[in-house]
Amino acid sequence: GLPRAVGCANGTDALMLILRGMGIGPGCTVATVSHTAVATVAAIEMAGATPLLLDIDPETYTMDADELAAVLEEPPPGLRPIRAAIPVHIYGQACDLGPMLEACRAADVRLIEDCAQAHGAAWQGQRLGTLGDAAAFSLYPTKNLGALGDGGILATADAELADRIAAIRQYGWKRRYISDMQGVNSRLDEIQAAILRVKLQHLDAQNARRQQIAAAYDAAIAGTGLTAPVRRPGCEHVFHLYVLRHPERDAIMAALKAQGIGTGIHYPVPVHEQPAYEGRVALGPADCDETSRAAREVFSLPMYPELTDEQVERVCTALRAL
Ligand SMILES: *Cc1c(COP(=O)(O)O)cnc(C)c1O
Repeated sequence: GLPRAVGCANGTDALMLILRGMGIGPGCTVATVSHTAVATVAAIEMAGATPLLLDIDPETYTMDADELAAVLEEPPPGLRPIRAAIPVHIYGQACDLGPMLEACRAADVRLIEDCAQAHGAAWQGQRLGTLGDAAAFSLYPTKNLGALGDGGILATADAELADRIAAIRQYGWKRRYISDMQGVNSRLDEIQAAILRVKLQHLDAQNARRQQIAAAYDAAIAGTGLTAPVRRPGCEHVFHLYVLRHPERDAIMAALKAQGIGTGIHYPVPVHEQPAYEGRVALGPADCDETSRAAREVFSLPMYPELTDEQVERVCTALRAL
């Protein structure tokens, strides 16, 4: 639904290119979350900006909209000006975009959607990626829309921004062999693009299959004491991941493993607790407490559209026996 999209090498580059295209870099702060793939934070640092990590809402695991509004109104002392916010539509579900858009507009801060896990999802009937100033998608093989190798794409309604980014993506060229600005090489490989054009036609059907699997899991865990994914009202969740929560997570994962069912943790160590970032990266006033708690309690069930009904039923049987 957006007029412009620019392919690039991966999702991390898509975020970095958006920031560079907006002129956000050294001397700027960018607010995001610690509960994300480390790529979100890496992209901010690649652009030369300073990340500010905010906490999450413990029900949906997305950025705490109140904390974002608070830091935009009263930035934590000692920080360079906040120029952008990158909320992450984690696990395939929209952030609380209403108040976020309002807070960013009021503070003249760009809102960049990290859609790397939310291809095809919607907020109040509008596709994710169309609500902020720009959106970044990863096309890594495991994503809802994945290539056969790495890939990324960014989308925006701002034609000038798209032109600038298209130049930065390839050596700063607008004209062949003439670099009008500092650029990088982050092309989307053409073989991957050809594969993606075909796979894009199957995205909605594959998301529908993910939703069907999620509904089966929901029914199976009713009464087990596990916390099911909470759907934000009015939003379409595309279940990049199906994430459960329980204080005794490790024991439950072990019980499932004994039945031959693999699980994962997304993510076991929040960005602000990672060796590369701990003590170095700025945190919001909430100190990412809910983020740290979630990292100790969440785990993910098998979730991809190719799962057969028999496989889903096997997972459900194991869940019911917990
Ligand atoms: C996968 C992912 C990225 C990065 O994408 P790459 O293609 O691996 O660079 C960024 N943000 C989130 C939330 C992701 O899940």
